[in-house]
Amino acid sequence: MEQKARLQGRITEEQVRRSPFLYLPFPVPPRTRRVHVSYDYSDPVTAPFGLGPGNTVDIGIFDSRGHDFLEAPGFRGWSGTSKREFFLAPHEATPGYIRGPLFPGEWNVILGVDRIEPHGARYEVNITLDVAEDDAPAWPVGRPDGPQAGARPVPGGGPAPTRRTAGGEARWLKGDLHCHTLHSDGLNSVQELVVNAVEQGLDFLAVTDHNTNTHHEELDQLSHMPITLIPGEEITTYWGHANMWGLREWIEYRCADEESIAAVRRYVLQQGGLISVNHPKSVGPPWLFQGWEGYPCMEVWQAPWRFYNWESLERWDALLRRGDRVIAVGGSDTHSIPPAPPRHPHGLANPTTWVYAQGEPSEESVLDAIRRGHVFISDAPNGSHLILTADGDGDGGFEKMMGDTVEAQEGRRVAFRVQVHGGLDRRLWLICDGEPLDIIPLDAVDTDFRFSLEISGRGYVRAELRGHRGRPERGEVVWAMTNPIWLRVVE
Ligand SMILES: [Zn+2]
Ligand SMILES: [Zn+2]
Repeated sequence: MEQKARLQGRITEEQVRRSPFLYLPFPVPPRTRRVHVSYDYSDPVTAPFGLGPGNTVDIGIFDSRGHDFLEAPGFRGWSGTSKREFFLAPHEATPGYIRGPLFPGEWNVILGVDRIEPHGARYEVNITLDVAEDDAPAWPVGRPDGPQAGARPVPGGGPAPTRRTAGGEARWLKGDLHCHTLHSDGLNSVQELVVNAVEQGLDFLAVTDHNTNTHHEELDQLSHMPITLIPGEEITTYWGHANMWGLREWIEYRCADEESIAAVRRYVLQQGGLISVNHPKSVGPPWLFQGWEGYPCMEVWQAPWRFYNWESLERWDALLRRGDRVIAVGGSDTHSIPPAPPRHPHGLANPTTWVYAQGEPSEESVLDAIRRGHVFISDAPNGSHLILTADGDGDGGFEKMMGDTVEAQEGRRVAFRVQVHGGLDRRLWLICDGEPLDIIPLDAVDTDFRFSLEISGRGYVRAELRGHRGRPERGEVVWAMTNPIWLRVVE
């Protein structure tokens, strides 16, 4: 038996100033077998990248178990503006939405208003419930993927792969920390991205769909592939985006002030996950929260370098100069690769993030290397390399690397080494406390460059490989960049 409900109304600018989120409650009776939701709103933005005039109204849904901030056992999915309709049933749901028991009680459609015209926005949400007759089972029984009865609505499927502990030799692993699938606004399946990453020879791939975790189940199902798959979520707020890596759960995204985003950041870190400020640049979209402290990572290089990454680099250097030990990472932010229609001119691993991981490649070893700052970024998996090391104890070996701290007595010169690959006709920039220390033209593909430095009064050293791409008048781009080595004078 079908039950239909129509929820319609108007959202005003004033309302959105108080909160960008609007909850539309509706009853779900016992024995409901399927919830279908479609919606529309007035004057949607049509210009690319959500720019230009018009309204942008996102959608998601919470079930009767509740939707309190940070404590929302009722989270059942989110699709932003990527889908105009979706459904949930005990054994299946639209990607981005969580299948499982359709708990009776008051559910809520959530509308999130990203942009609104001065005259406001009209919306209409149509809900169709398929409710079983009294004598029919509420849902087919005996299915192999029976609904989960747990308190937290995680998708069913195989168990999470066990975490391998780090040990043994360290090695460089390359990967991509940022991409999207059909579970949010990407155009590819999880499998298409993972297969492409394997074909490119990547060692790890984090999939970071917006504001949902339904892609984690597919990552687990692909855990036999020869690549480390890292569950993530791009916490997508109207004041900036942050990537979470390493937790197998939905992470709260309804942050509309400093306090709420800080609460989410603390939660992720307390649970053992990692979090980064994403693409802090004008076309990012930018990071509009005031607080920058406490985020271990920053996506300094998002998509090909020309996409305004100089702005992110400048922001990052400003944080480093004041002593914030923020780890620079890269992310392609891929939303489509063939066979999906192209949405941007690049694919996975542009840029590539390289991490120096201990032991066998694993989610834990990759995330641990990032936490230590043992990271550089380059243009491609078969592109440039740039490795900065230092001889911290003065014994002739270069045992310190990016992310480490060199401690030396006042007046002692410390030797540094930069190993460059892909340097032909490019320039090596050595940067100290945000200023160029030296700029060295390179005339070979591979260069082993040494220099030494009196460290007192200095905070950090890092390196970049810059050079032309295309016509010289278009200026230089960064081909590779390291994280800093920190400097400290000791007695
Ligand atoms: Zn983003
Ligand atoms: Zn993204």
